[in-house]
Amino acid sequence: MKTILVTGGAGFIGSHLCEKLLEQGNRVICLDNLFTGNKKNIEPFFADENFTFTPHDIIEPFFTNEKINQIYNLACPASPIHYQINAIRTIKANTIGVINMLGLAKSHGARILQASTSEVYGDPAEHPQKESYWGNVNPIGPRACYDEGKRVAETLFFDYYRKYNLEIRVARIFNTYGPKMAANDGRVVSNFITQALANKDITIYGDGSQTRSFCYVSDLVDGLIKLMNKKNFIGPVNLGNPLELTVKEIAEKIINLTGSKSRLVYKLLPEDDPKKRRPDITLAEKELNWQPEIKLEDGLKKTIEYFEIKA
Ligand code: NAD
Ligand code: UDP
Repeated sequence: MKTILVTGGAGFIGSHLCEKLLEQGNRVICLDNLFTGNKKNIEPFFADENFTFTPHDIIEPFFTNEKINQIYNLACPASPIHYQINAIRTIKANTIGVINMLGLAKSHGARILQASTSEVYGDPAEHPQKESYWGNVNPIGPRACYDEGKRVAETLFFDYYRKYNLEIRVARIFNTYGPKMAANDGRVVSNFITQALANKDITIYGDGSQTRSFCYVSDLVDGLIKLMNKKNFIGPVNLGNPLELTVKEIAEKIINLTGSKSRLVYKLLPEDDPKKRRPDITLAEKELNWQPEIKLEDGLKKTIEYFEIKA
């Protein structure tokens, strides 16, 4: 049994990760300030004696006498509207917060995994994106607090690795969806599903020709756990589903699956919104023997079911 700290564990991906780690027989400590996370996501684990929820902001140092073996660092708001509410706090989470978690890993001799992102590639000039691509990021735009924050977090991870030989892992996560996404966080899948279920207008930003590639959350969690436990492989490695769709296509799919009467309406495209995104997952296939298993339609059906029950 390992003792595993999951920062951001009350969030969308974090709560699925805590669940899987508990199922595998680990002791799990979830650290979260509940900024975008929700206690409801982790309530089912409160009865499990191997689970502890500790309210904490990673911008403050964290100390514990309990010996930590692994840390998954997910604490950071992930949707554009939430990470832009207080851009400076987003940068603090990705710099001061990351230094705090790296320091914790160093003092415990723990392995630490960073939830990095496809946003490190910015509005990519290379397609699909390989890990070797250095990206195309606007350093002063509204997305920079997140994109540049996540880039410097990767830098910090690699500097702790070079200086202290810390056992690091870096996952570059592409768009992920599934149950427990927050209905109000403005991301495309949750927005479109909640709009479709209410027969409200589906808000397409721009002309809907921009693309994304969507990975179901259970596939992503399997990839994170494989990366954490793989010997002698630190990444960075892309984790995502290479099936690429335009935003308009995803809207049409969701309308079909919900049988909705919603219309498509077109709104302003947010500044610096990437035009295309698709992971090259050759490295994950080779090093982790990982590839996504859940088909888009099946994953969307499960997500729609979740939002139907919530409504
Ligand atoms: P989320 O917003 O649901 O989860 C983030 C969690 O971190 C929330 O529970 C939030 O309360 C917590 N948090 C935020 N700032 C914190 C702080 N300073 N201290 C402690 N807790 C804090 O988002 P998510 O989609 O589950 O994303 C989890 C991680 O994965 C994030 O780091 C995100 O950048 C990364 N990621 C997600 C996606 C995606 O498509 N979902 C894609 C790329 C990367
Ligand atoms: N998007 C949209 N309508 C919405 C929400 C998002 O058209 O109601 C678009 C958004 O402009 C982007 C894509 O969907 O092109 C994915 O947005 P999301 O915020 O989910 O993720 P990210 O841009 O970070 O990949």
